[in-house]
Amino acid sequence: MAVAVLSSPFFRTTLVSARALAIIGASNKRSSIAQFPRQCLRGKHVIAAAHDEEASAKASSSLADKEDPTIFDKIISKEIPSSIVYEDEYVLAFRDINPQAPIHVVVIPKLRDGLTQLGKAEARHEEILGKLFYAAKIVAEKEGILDGFRVVINSGPAACQSVYHLHLHVFGGRQMKWPPG
Ligand code: AMP
Repeated sequence: MAVAVLSSPFFRTTLVSARALAIIGASNKRSSIAQFPRQCLRGKHVIAAAHDEEASAKASSSLADKEDPTIFDKIISKEIPSSIVYEDEYVLAFRDINPQAPIHVVVIPKLRDGLTQLGKAEARHEEILGKLFYAAKIVAEKEGILDGFRVVINSGPAACQSVYHLHLHVFGGRQMKWPPG
């Protein structure tokens, strides 16, 4: 099982690149390699983050409750450029800077409204959650992957969430495997 997961293309490609980390770090002082659970990092980053796993996960959890601006706020305000795939009044969809599939688009609510992660969702968020999922379908349609695509939400440190502004990952353009890493 573990070997199967480790050797799956999804797992192998689910790497947090130094580039993405640098960008996140530059835009959000709270986000640093030290705040990622060790298992969320790969290769040399594991050495860089070689400290107590529990403390690291705790640091990420505390970040999860903060409403501080993230890199996605800068993308929404167009302060940071992004490759926009779809946009309407409520949602923004843009290409992931560190794609894990030929098509990898991130879909976010323009107004975070407490939705730092899916685990913080409340009944009042039902409408925006529906809009995000429908936007994921529109993205899949625009990208020509309606025949098969995957939508992923990482919620919290145990799921390796790195940006605390709720987002859906839309993957496509290759055969997906199961189970994911
Ligand atoms: P997660 O790890 O689920 O929190 O996903 C955050 C995603 O945001 C990662 O896949 C990053 O590659 C992506 N990301 C971070 N910074 C940027 C950026 N400036 N433009 C596009 N995607 C980004």
